[in-house]
Amino acid sequence: MPELPEVETVRRTLNDLIVGKTISSVTATLPRILQKPDDPQVFAAMLEGRTFTSVERRGKFLRLVLDGLVLVSHLRMEGRFGVYRADEPKEIHTHVVFHFTDGTELRYKDVRQFGTMHLFPAGEELRSPPLNKLGLEPLEGGFTPDAFRLALGRRSTKIKPLLLNQEVVVGLGNIYVDEALHMAGVHPERPANKLTKSERDRLHSAIVQTLSAAVEAGGSSIKSYVNGQGEMGMFQHSLKAYGRTGEPCLTCGTPIERTVVGGRGTHTCPDCQKGPRNKSPAQDASRGEAAKRYVRNNAVKRRLDGPSE
Ligand SMILES: [Zn+2]
Repeated sequence: MPELPEVETVRRTLNDLIVGKTISSVTATLPRILQKPDDPQVFAAMLEGRTFTSVERRGKFLRLVLDGLVLVSHLRMEGRFGVYRADEPKEIHTHVVFHFTDGTELRYKDVRQFGTMHLFPAGEELRSPPLNKLGLEPLEGGFTPDAFRLALGRRSTKIKPLLLNQEVVVGLGNIYVDEALHMAGVHPERPANKLTKSERDRLHSAIVQTLSAAVEAGGSSIKSYVNGQGEMGMFQHSLKAYGRTGEPCLTCGTPIERTVVGGRGTHTCPDCQKGPRNKSPAQDASRGEAAKRYVRNNAVKRRLDGPSE
């Protein structure tokens, strides 16, 4: 599922491609994607004659802004937008087509058919589901260390599932949560209310750094993600924990472990990220020694071999 960096990349691409274009008609062949209004004919009638004025984002949702209306779209597993000439053949699984007056079309393709579209009078979308309960935007000014502390509250929930909860902080999914927790040196099963101020501040900073770097790289191409123009993101080459099971931690050399936390595959360094159950000083010391030995033995070799892919 695309996370904040991938959705932001789609947003930027679409913004360049559709702003200023006026819809002449809409064809929706799979009504299930249309959540509001759920009648394809009503949906089409509302959009005809409208012009896209900007493409924005709230969490993992796109906000396609038209004159007077906002189309809220979640790509879920496999949803993709693309702009084509009307005479180009349509790919299979193209379910919604916005025909423009200039002879081009915005097409929405969704193999898994889990994506959603909600249409609102402008302004109403932020007060209504699915956007009304979303939490802090991690790449906006309001995401301060103090705001992060307040959003976590006193909850004793494990930190990873809490960060995946879009009502706390938006935009993080399984990839970037694992990356941020690894960068911060925080174990995914630590209860949120047991984090020290220093751990919480490191995590805050790691969330911002990880997401910003991934946006810069155009997102991560894992499974089938591509941006609105069919280009792949590059951040998958910078991942330090996610998907690196058994490979050495780039900080200490200990092999990255895969476990399951809150039902999600989770990648951690057992040495850099101390869990709630391996906090005894003796264990810490022995793990630390093992890591140091590993680094001594392998640092030179790794430098010679170059980074492992
Ligand atoms: Zn490590």
